[in-house]
Amino acid sequence: MRLTVIGRYGPYPAPGGACSCYLLNAGGMNIVMDMGPGSLSGLLKVTDVGSISAIWISHLHYDHTSDLLPFRYLLEDLGQKIKVVTHPEDTDYYRLLFGHRNIEVTDAVPGGGLRLGGLDLSFYEMDHTAYDLALRVSDGQKTFVYTGDTRFTENLFAAGGGADCVLADCAKPDGFSGPHMTVTHAKEIRRRTGARLIATHLSPGYSPNDDLAGCDGIETAEEGQTYVI
Ligand SMILES: [Zn+2]
Repeated sequence: MRLTVIGRYGPYPAPGGACSCYLLNAGGMNIVMDMGPGSLSGLLKVTDVGSISAIWISHLHYDHTSDLLPFRYLLEDLGQKIKVVTHPEDTDYYRLLFGHRNIEVTDAVPGGGLRLGGLDLSFYEMDHTAYDLALRVSDGQKTFVYTGDTRFTENLFAAGGGADCVLADCAKPDGFSGPHMTVTHAKEIRRRTGARLIATHLSPGYSPNDDLAGCDGIETAEEGQTYVI
């Protein structure tokens, strides 16, 4: 498995950066995970649209979805359809994002699973201000988990148990009170899952590197970097 970080910021990017977007290459599939602002440009630097197998959307906050809108223009120009996997919602924003002839939606529900090429996908409800699902992906040899956005919840350990790598929303400073996790939560997830932990969803202006220095098995997501799992 190979994970490339396209955008690591939220709720808005640092100068020159992008919001949530990651590319997972595994089991012969290329899965784009979330498409926040600034991510489409970065994505097109490392892959072409024809090689994208599916797009995973963890939840419908703007910093995880907004580049899907201009992406639809590109799909129209190419005459190409794309599969989007996400949790169904009866909202105007859901219909705006996905109600398009070039987008084919597959519903993701917690407790359910999906076979995609050589991959098994499963979904776990997290705890956020929007309905968020963690994605667990296995190719039969390695297992990768992306939390999307979440507060600290015991469901993290249902999703991440036995995983080789967890990409988690845990890069906020201690004392942060919003619906995301802090560097202390990062250490807790690492300790309880034993998985390699990549901390992401950085606030512009705060780097978790100092607070996570010396923490074996925890890294901070770097845009443009590819992680071999
Ligand atoms: Zn969010």
